[in-house]
Amino acid sequence: MSEQSVTIEHRYLELPDSFYTRVTPTPLKDGRLVCFNAPLAEAMGFRATDPSDWTGVGSGTELLDGMDPVAMKYTGHQFGVYNPELGDGRGLLLWETVGPDGRRWDWHLKGAGMTPYSRFGDGRAVLRSTIREYLCSEAMAGLGIPTTRALFMVSAKDPVRRESIETASTLLRVTQSHIRFGHFEFATHHEGEEALRTLLEHVISLHFPHLIRLPEKERYQRWFEEVVERTAGLIADWQAVGFCHGVMNSDNMSIIGETLDYGPYAFLDDFDAGFICNHTDQGGRYAYNRQPNIGFVNCQYLANALLPVMNEDDVRQGLRRYETAYNQRFQQNMRNKLGLYTESGADISLIMDTFSMLHEYHLDYTLFFRSLSNLHLKGKAPIRDLFVDRSVADEWLERYEKRLLDETRAHDEREVAMRQQNPKYILRNYLAQQVILEAQSGDYEPMKDLLKVLQRPFDEQPGNESYAAPPPDWGKHLSISCSS
Ligand code: AMP
Ligand code: MG
Repeated sequence: MSEQSVTIEHRYLELPDSFYTRVTPTPLKDGRLVCFNAPLAEAMGFRATDPSDWTGVGSGTELLDGMDPVAMKYTGHQFGVYNPELGDGRGLLLWETVGPDGRRWDWHLKGAGMTPYSRFGDGRAVLRSTIREYLCSEAMAGLGIPTTRALFMVSAKDPVRRESIETASTLLRVTQSHIRFGHFEFATHHEGEEALRTLLEHVISLHFPHLIRLPEKERYQRWFEEVVERTAGLIADWQAVGFCHGVMNSDNMSIIGETLDYGPYAFLDDFDAGFICNHTDQGGRYAYNRQPNIGFVNCQYLANALLPVMNEDDVRQGLRRYETAYNQRFQQNMRNKLGLYTESGADISLIMDTFSMLHEYHLDYTLFFRSLSNLHLKGKAPIRDLFVDRSVADEWLERYEKRLLDETRAHDEREVAMRQQNPKYILRNYLAQQVILEAQSGDYEPMKDLLKVLQRPFDEQPGNESYAAPPPDWGKHLSISCSS
């Protein structure tokens, strides 16, 4: 593999020893590199070479010069209950690289075998869940929503026991930082103030460099506000695109505000405000309509962990940013989706009533907004066809068209902009399910075809229409188990 001005670092090792344990990956048998993200590798400074060069790293059989794999230690609140036993149970941070554009990349090998934090787990990831993470992180990137990325994946023959026997796989996940809210909970609740300060300064200096020069009190306060705002903004983006994360535990919350740890996630098909995508979440703690509130609860856990170095008032002030940031971003997202450029006092009620209608009539969330983005280009029929009762559509459209009279933009200009906000292609669970079945029988081409479609979710892509179809009956409301 040839590199162009890549610097190799491992700044995570500058943290106190308690934040990690050195672990060598447990090799997989007959690993095969089955998917490689060439454009991403290039952006990171690794020129497109033979992807199979990475098979050894992905299989845990080879470490490159400078790789020093560690399992990160963190704790966190899972379903509201504090768990001190967490950490990378099946993933290892191999190294960090800094690319030609100055961007830092953590390389995390997920599924690399057992670590001291594996608890009852086997340290592995199955093929099915690795594909799901690969697809969704790239789909999110295509949608412009902050996310970790997938650099490549390896599929192996080693058997892994879940509900049935499956096969092992690894994902080389990259992002600017794998540090989670749970790292801060670990620092404060187990290590003390000095460890917390070291972690905080580490995160600020690597990921919030614009704050470095501020005096300490202001530096911490501004940093916390920014984390809260990024988190609120991220969740507003999820809501707008109909994404349910499924496991919003504080150990799955990225400190830089990215979508992290793809498990039993789902994009809504038919709109259902209370949709629960995680089969094991029986109480619906992480249901679609609870995500904004859970994001806040997670910020509260983080706030508690900051009390040794910040006073209560400052922390409270930071938390207050959440609601404003969420509402602003969510409303802006919805205005964009509806194509509302000018502001009118009645817009909030239009937005809320639209959600009520989507819920009551189980409308396909993605198709509704995409059809609306073509209202004047293609007419009302595609929208009306989504409704069993066309008169409901007509009544809503009448109100919407009346509202559009206040707009200054021309119809075609508005609709071009709307089509950049309302994706035509999303990663519906049934699509993921189909390519997983093909991959399990050895054919990765369908997965790669789907990936290509998802990289350009806002483009019409003639010829790929079948990927925009609503799910068949078997594929509706698939609830995915947490076992991955
Ligand atoms: P999650 O809720 O999926 O993010 O996982 C919670 C914790 O369980 C994390 O600390 C993971 O590293 C760990 N974990 C999940 N699956 C496994 C596994 N198969 N083996 C070991 N640890 C695991
Ligand atoms: Mg996790």
